[in-house]
Amino acid sequence: MRIALVAHDRKKDDMVALATEFAPLLKQHTLMATGTTGGRLQNEVGLTVERLLSGPLGGDLQIGARLSTGEVDAVVFLRDPMTAQPHEPDINALVRACDVHNVPCATNVATARVLLAGMQG
Ligand code: PGA
Repeated sequence: MRIALVAHDRKKDDMVALATEFAPLLKQHTLMATGTTGGRLQNEVGLTVERLLSGPLGGDLQIGARLSTGEVDAVVFLRDPMTAQPHEPDINALVRACDVHNVPCATNVATARVLLAGMQG
């Protein structure tokens, strides 16, 4: 499966912890991520990740575009609900695209664990 991974700045440590926990699973799939998230997953977890643009520069939109053409099968998008983001419209567009195309989208760690555990099973 093709899995997209995105984490806002205050959620990046959570993303690294989650990806470390599920690294054996994630290594079996094709991964893409926004720029900074992808860099941390490569450097700190050792995952092979296609790094797209950073979120504020259009990375979320790149994932949304791919998803809309059937090129993304699941999204883990650890949003920070407590901090205003300059690219709020892009964030909403990505989540909306997931709903339009019925692609699973986990926006917090608890849901991401359920999603990834489900993929394991
Ligand atoms: P980043 O983008 O991984 O490049 O930080 C994520 C985001 O802020 O949407």
